[in-house]
Amino acid sequence: MNIILFGPPGAGKGTQSDKIVEKNKLFKVSTGDLLREEIRKKSDQGKKIEEIVNAGKLVSDEIINKLIEGIISDSRYENNIIFDGYPRNLKQAESLEILLQKYNQKIDLVFSLSVPLDTIIKRISGRVVCSKCGNTYNQFFNPPPMNNDCCNNKNLKKRGDDKVETAKKRYETYQKSTEPVLKYYEKSGLLKNISGENKIDEISNKIAHFINLIQG
Ligand code: AMP
Repeated sequence: MNIILFGPPGAGKGTQSDKIVEKNKLFKVSTGDLLREEIRKKSDQGKKIEEIVNAGKLVSDEIINKLIEGIISDSRYENNIIFDGYPRNLKQAESLEILLQKYNQKIDLVFSLSVPLDTIIKRISGRVVCSKCGNTYNQFFNPPPMNNDCCNNKNLKKRGDDKVETAKKRYETYQKSTEPVLKYYEKSGLLKNISGENKIDEISNKIAHFINLIQG
């Protein structure tokens, strides 16, 4: 089973995809995480990517498609992927289709988490990520644990693109480039719309329900 999870920045894609991975033993492909890894390496390409990401724009399709082909062509992940934050525009959706056909696979389910801009701003401005274990917290809604060896002040960091102005730009980019992709999957009948404003467990139960239907 291959799944795509859509949603504007701060919609809870990361949280939900981690839950789906846990329950269904899928392999998560977050293009945002892959790009942040490249940024951390401080390579020439990483520096260019950082500029684009921090401006709230999309990284070139060429870079993204190369990352994705490396994963889809790897038989360890065959028919066992959840895409988080990909595809981000129609061109990427088309090349995903071609790649999946090439490796005899398909998309089985597409989820879209919808969240309005004012909620996104609140979520993003409080978001901190532990650079050691990758756990994500929100200083207002889901604060990090006290006296923790791992998720403490030393390791908790804000993402470079989690500033209010960048968040607004990322939301605009989502509306302009990514929402047309939702229509593409709506036509194929794979799209399930879920409110991202519900409680985390309510959302994951809804997602699990649709996955169970597919699995029979
Ligand atoms: P995310 O972690 O999914 O919110 O992604 C963070 C940033 O990485 C985005 O705002 C984009 O600048 C970049 N990015 C992530 N995925 C893609 C993609 N599929 N295509 C282009 N840029 C991407």
